[in-house]
Amino acid sequence: MSVLSSPHFHDEAKAFEYLESIVWADGIVCPHCGVIGGRVYDLSGVRSKASGKSPEGKVRHGLKKCGECRKQFTAKVGTVFEHARLPLTKMLQAVHLIVSSKKGISAHQLSRVLEVQYKSAWFLAHRIREAMRSGDLATPFGSGGGAVEVDETYIGKKADYNGNRRGYGHKHAVLALVDRDSGQSRWFHIDNSRAKDIHPIVRANISREARFMTDEAKMYSRIGKEFAEHGTTTHAAFQYVDLNDRTIHTNTVEGAFSIFKRGMRGVYQHCAEHHLHRYLAEFEFRYNNRIANGVDDRQRAVNAVQGIVGKRLTYQQPDAG
Ligand SMILES: [Zn+2]
Repeated sequence: MSVLSSPHFHDEAKAFEYLESIVWADGIVCPHCGVIGGRVYDLSGVRSKASGKSPEGKVRHGLKKCGECRKQFTAKVGTVFEHARLPLTKMLQAVHLIVSSKKGISAHQLSRVLEVQYKSAWFLAHRIREAMRSGDLATPFGSGGGAVEVDETYIGKKADYNGNRRGYGHKHAVLALVDRDSGQSRWFHIDNSRAKDIHPIVRANISREARFMTDEAKMYSRIGKEFAEHGTTTHAAFQYVDLNDRTIHTNTVEGAFSIFKRGMRGVYQHCAEHHLHRYLAEFEFRYNNRIANGVDDRQRAVNAVQGIVGKRLTYQQPDAG
């Protein structure tokens, strides 16, 4: 027995039971009229219209009918899986593959493993990334006076850049915040690493009572005064931990960046700028739901599927990335 031998990866009816147990954990909600815990009927044995491929029609798994508004629905309605045409078993396999691989999985590899077309794999992977996007920005990091590490990194190359290739101006900038106490992170695609790109994010996401940890870069020095403490290390002088206070460093966020950069280099070689935020969501999700935070592969898949509720997506075509 392996994780992948679970019935919901192979049996479409079981796949719907799995999805329902997560989407309707607190009782069935009719997506049409919004009734919670109302009368709902199972419509078993209903088939889709006959087609060339299946002259008798396909069984419509997980089909329900609302006793209040008389409309039909399944647990997929209102989720990122709603308009996907692949079997739910394959989509759940894809969730598992994406959340359990440390650096991610390319659409080409997903297409080979699931035996689906490249385009379908690409769309599916972006649907799942959207599910992984965190909507919870309620609690600022460092509440209670904990340490929050902040750093920026640069990847890839802007498509329309024709200027000087020295420095970082032609690359995509990414800002990450790590709350050392909770082990949680937040990742942002920023226009550039100037004070005006970074300060609003820092102010909105970090508590004033936090210990703010950065390197010596100029754009952090003024805003650093707004926090209870500002710890800096001088990377230019190869100083990565403060020798008088070893809790002053940004090694945690740099460790997160190194996984991200290896993944983006090895698996997602071409990432269009307008998709970067979804890749960031994927890395943020895996980082926040990692083993060190007490989340195993099975639980990580459940957490990802929970994120599919209430996130519909429309897509641009699968160009680079
Ligand atoms: Zn209804």
